[in-house]
Amino acid sequence: MFFIILHLLFMLFSLLHAISDHPILIVVSFDAFRYDYFSKKVTPNLSKLKERGSYADYINNVFPTKTFPNHHTIATGLYAENHGVLGNGFYDSVKKVSFKLSYELFHYDETIIPIWRLNEMSGRDRFSGSMMWPGSAYEYQGKLPTYLQKFDTDLNWYKRVDTVLNWIENPKRPANLVMLYFEEPDTHGHAFGPKSKEVVEMLQRLDNVSYYLHEQLKRKGLSNRVNVIHLSDHGMTTVTPSNFIDFTKYLRPNTYQIACTSPALHVIPNFGMEEEIYGLLKNASEDIGHFAVYQKSEIPSRWRFKNNPRVPPIYVVADEGYAFQDMYESVKYYSARYGFKVRNDSEFGVHGYDNQLPSMRPFFMAIGPQIKANHKVAPFNTVDLFTLFCAILNIKSTRHDGVYSNIETILVGYHGSMVPIIVIIVGGVALALLLIICAAVATLLIIKRQQNITTTAALNKRFPQNFTHSTIEAQHLLEPEDA
Ligand SMILES: [Zn+2]
Repeated sequence: MFFIILHLLFMLFSLLHAISDHPILIVVSFDAFRYDYFSKKVTPNLSKLKERGSYADYINNVFPTKTFPNHHTIATGLYAENHGVLGNGFYDSVKKVSFKLSYELFHYDETIIPIWRLNEMSGRDRFSGSMMWPGSAYEYQGKLPTYLQKFDTDLNWYKRVDTVLNWIENPKRPANLVMLYFEEPDTHGHAFGPKSKEVVEMLQRLDNVSYYLHEQLKRKGLSNRVNVIHLSDHGMTTVTPSNFIDFTKYLRPNTYQIACTSPALHVIPNFGMEEEIYGLLKNASEDIGHFAVYQKSEIPSRWRFKNNPRVPPIYVVADEGYAFQDMYESVKYYSARYGFKVRNDSEFGVHGYDNQLPSMRPFFMAIGPQIKANHKVAPFNTVDLFTLFCAILNIKSTRHDGVYSNIETILVGYHGSMVPIIVIIVGGVALALLLIICAAVATLLIIKRQQNITTTAALNKRFPQNFTHSTIEAQHLLEPEDA
């Protein structure tokens, strides 16, 4: 009896929770959580979630495999050349100035609507929250999300989860979409490399906070109302100082500017210097090897990167495992911050390379009332995520580069496309018609043949010599007698 009363009280408490009437979604990003970090076997809770919900072995992110371009792709469904966040910084050739993290970086095109804005624009009582999501601290269409926590690495991870749940349970303005960001294992991955014990420690911490999030949802009776997507923006690969390339030694000082960070740098030659600098960098690339130099038009189209006015005149991209001179500054910072001495073989982590490299791949998994259970989906594209969010939130998507059919099997209620069934029905009907036509033609031919035999036999009977004319021509000879 006591347990029944307790259960009823618990249910009543759950009902009293003010949550949104709209579908609810939390998107959790672990920066630089490589798709194969699960094989380190230090994330049992995430692995369990993966089995219970839907997951892909990896997703295909966008080039450059950097944080801001990929987080903005997740939020907008657009390739870098379309949303204009071409790196963690860029050089504005009109204003003649380099931008790092800024309002301008995220506002190449004012008509682009990130998912947290689209959710709020899609109907009454839809409220979005952003817990440090890269790029969300700036207004879009003149507005911030209803709930916003700006980037602050000092904010405790469990506090982040509690805050997000408070937004979802806010009695007046309950959030139905929350973007939740964690800056690890990126930070420690850069400082110690992806194979380090420090990365393992971060993975364990992320696994624990994921467990906490789902336990809190369960405890609050929200597991059957809240969809949770766990994903990352890119992977990470090992680089040692012995593989740092200083291409500036090949150039004349004060003839160019550089924007962005390894392994893909924007080189902006001073006026009239483009041909010389391109030629010198090409020579350097042939001498030293391990990096490519592109003029704007030569950048591979498959990167979906070059068709944007923010693309620099010259772009240099290191091969996997290599980086440029800017890394000397970065490793100095890491050694000071974490108190270690940099050696030639010290391992660091870098990402931003070609998005076809397995080491740059992020992961994806999802669980919730609108997500299919025990389901594995084929690897899809980061640009497709936007359509998945829109489908879960039940809102109309805006312009995007994704393909809905790549992700639709993840959703509950999807039982396969009607196209194969239609093809089978139409094919079956066509085959039946063909068989009927063949049978009719064969019957007609048999009748005709039988008629000819009868006619020939009758003619031969009447005219005992071998009848050499065609039976059709001679048939009239029989007519008077038969008539
Ligand atoms: Zn990142």
